[in-house]
Amino acid sequence: MTIAPEAMTSDDLRAILDVAVEDMWVRADLMHERGWQPELGISALGGCEREAAYIIAGTPPSDAPPPTRAAILGTWLHEKILPLLADSLGGCEVEGTLFVDGLKGHSDLYVTLRRPDGTGIVVDLKTCTESAISKARRLGPKRNHNWQVHGYGKGRRDAGQRVDWVALLYIDRARGEHYVWISPYDEAEADAAMRWLFDVRAVAKRNPDLAPRGCRGPGLDWKADACKWVTRCWPDRQKTIRTELDDQGPAIEAALKMRLEGSEREADGKSDKSFAEAILDGLPEGEYGPYRLGWRSNGERMNQKVAAERLKRHGLEVPRNAATYSARVTYIGDQPPEETTS
Ligand code: SF4
Repeated sequence: MTIAPEAMTSDDLRAILDVAVEDMWVRADLMHERGWQPELGISALGGCEREAAYIIAGTPPSDAPPPTRAAILGTWLHEKILPLLADSLGGCEVEGTLFVDGLKGHSDLYVTLRRPDGTGIVVDLKTCTESAISKARRLGPKRNHNWQVHGYGKGRRDAGQRVDWVALLYIDRARGEHYVWISPYDEAEADAAMRWLFDVRAVAKRNPDLAPRGCRGPGLDWKADACKWVTRCWPDRQKTIRTELDDQGPAIEAALKMRLEGSEREADGKSDKSFAEAILDGLPEGEYGPYRLGWRSNGERMNQKVAAERLKRHGLEVPRNAATYSARVTYIGDQPPEETTS
């Protein structure tokens, strides 16, 4: 049914735009490279072993995950940023195709500095969140990012090119702020990545379902929700960790220990946050040593107690959600628990 323009409400217009935006994401996903059957690439080095093993073994996907919007936005940003950055730097190769130990990859930038010694730098761009940049600054890059950029470095070295440095350029998708992590090319990191690949190939040959999982499963980890093998990997959702064992005891105990320690850390974390915020109270936003302080409002929120009282006063029932349950765990052993290594 077509609605006459003069009869349209803001809700009708919003609905039209909502549908168009959803359709745009579907089209974007179809155009996105990850929409096709993948082959293992250099970017997978150091990621989820099991996913890599499924790809190597040619295991048919069990799922067709919805559009990965962060990845699509990342691709669009790459398309705009890399040529501009290459122009600014000069002497760059953009998205060169490389091979390392049978893996193919596209290295974002290879920079040869215009200096007599021709220093070579491999640069990979990561579009991410502000908190991911904060984490990379404090803790360095994730293993996957580090090995990926070293994989590109090794591919170029194997092809006879000079690589002295590897760099990761993190750009915050929301505010455009950036952080550069840079390191001399490290043969040991490249070797570790190649050993990882060797091990994954070995397990893929035996049985890819035996490769270690690299995420926490559906609903708890975006990697699972974007994975083409999530149902195969977690057929019973997180309970799979228990149900795939003959003796469920150790898995149950490990989960109880994790739950208890998580609660304790959460309580400590809340206490730390409150104490720190009390100290910082009233300070203006700004940079303090290596930290930046900002204030974020929670916005005005409904006063549930007052709202419930008013509903009751007007003889209306207070709507309630069905009860949900969360685990309560206490330690009842006589001795401190043994440390687990997983
Ligand atoms: S669901 Fe997670 S653990 Fe399983 S293959 Fe995919 S990314 Fe790896």
